[in-house]
Amino acid sequence: PTFSVADIRKTFLDFFAAKGHTVVASSPLVPGNDPTLMFTNSGMVQFKDVFLGTDKRPYVRATSVQTCLRAGGKHNDLENVGYTARHHTFFEMLGNWSFGDYFKRESLKWAWELLTEVYKLPPERLLATVYAEDDEAYDIWTKEIGLPPERVIRIGDNKGGRYKSDNFWMMADTGPCGPCSEIFYDHGEHIAGGPPGSPDEDGDRFIEIWNNVFMQFDMDEQGNVKPLPAPCVDTGMGLERLAAILQHVHSNYEIDLFDALIKAAARETGTSDLTNPSLKVIADHIRATAFLVADGVIPSNEGRGYVQRRIVRRAIRHGYKLGRKTPFFHKLVQDLVQQMGDAYPKIREQQARITDVLRVEEERFFETLAHGMEILDSALAGGAKTLPGDVAFKLHDTYGFPLDLTNDVCRERGVNVDEAGFATAMEHQKSTARAAGKFKMDRALEYTGAANQFTGYEQLAESAKIVALYVDG
Ligand code: ATP
Ligand code: MG
Ligand code: MG
Ligand code: MG
Repeated sequence: PTFSVADIRKTFLDFFAAKGHTVVASSPLVPGNDPTLMFTNSGMVQFKDVFLGTDKRPYVRATSVQTCLRAGGKHNDLENVGYTARHHTFFEMLGNWSFGDYFKRESLKWAWELLTEVYKLPPERLLATVYAEDDEAYDIWTKEIGLPPERVIRIGDNKGGRYKSDNFWMMADTGPCGPCSEIFYDHGEHIAGGPPGSPDEDGDRFIEIWNNVFMQFDMDEQGNVKPLPAPCVDTGMGLERLAAILQHVHSNYEIDLFDALIKAAARETGTSDLTNPSLKVIADHIRATAFLVADGVIPSNEGRGYVQRRIVRRAIRHGYKLGRKTPFFHKLVQDLVQQMGDAYPKIREQQARITDVLRVEEERFFETLAHGMEILDSALAGGAKTLPGDVAFKLHDTYGFPLDLTNDVCRERGVNVDEAGFATAMEHQKSTARAAGKFKMDRALEYTGAANQFTGYEQLAESAKIVALYVDG
């Protein structure tokens, strides 16, 4: 049988409900309980304080389908969209939790049971990873579940420091964390990529589908861990990645839901080649931006609103690349509502508002987009391999091109952006402005806290936080 995304959600929740889990609704993309976190990036966010022991729930087992956004802060997949088969900015995470109740054994056995007996994935295609020091998880996989040892891979501290590992999960730089065990699916030899832990693990042959985190610690700012009041389980499986397997396709962008959105993007941009990567970007970004509006985030120049603006503008630029010279993006809201409005009634209820917010932002950006693109094109006309920082800054300052958008265009053309030069140009403008004493309140600087993701900005971010103002003209 082929599972639709709706079937997959329901099957997951029913499975864990039958095992004593309370079904909990998705929380919004803006975390209600954590000002340090930009967006809800996994199913555990709404339970963070339960792990820490400062929040109590009337249940010790929970399950949910959580809307997530990874476009700012610690987990950021914006740059992967359009390039990998498996990453979105907005996606849905299927999860189950134990709050001081069951631990590794039940978690892994149930994951295996659900995948192989209910969803009926072929067991020989599945692999698991464990944290290198976690013999207990290794033994559960090899001795109790019966996975052949060559398909259980130990991953140590592979990210340059103690507890910096693909198999040591952290929601953010501090807070609840612990070793994890991940399940991968082998899409087959015809796809490039190696198994987890190998040099080409970032390929899309072996795709990570389910992370089982054994929450045991609370990490402080210095990276020291202390045990949580009770060991907990936190799991997350990407709905779209599972759907790709169950619908016998390789990429998330080929599943039922994305197929519809990509066709809608093709319709609105007049594109006949449905494999054009810009269509994937647009399809991804309509989900992210529409759900952000529904959850109260509108485009602006700072914080969450600036992430929203960056995503909308990236989508528009991809439409422009496909030949659209007038607003089109907001017209995809209706298609999104058709695909996801049953599961998330809030987008249906707010359809008109979401459409309006996106249309206004589009109209605004279309005023400067064409001119900005001309400037970019002429700066690169001589075959330059680097876009000068002052051009990137002018695009940003005068034409509303967020730096990541300029980067996105340049990456397509194999060109680097001089980000240090960009930072210098911005710094220069700020000091000139300071000297002239003509601050303007209406253009608050966007680089606030976690929104900042570009390495070149690091030094800039600190002063930007202090100045947090920006001069006009
Ligand atoms: P990857 O290594 O592929 O980037 P991850 O290790 O960052 O994934 P986790 O933080 O472990 O992902 O999240 C749990 C699960 O959520 C993943 O196993 C995957 O199925 C899903 N997931 C994570 N990031 C994305 C994304 N950007 N788009 C779609 N699904 C995702
Ligand atoms: Mg990732
Ligand atoms: Mg991973
Ligand atoms: Mg993972």
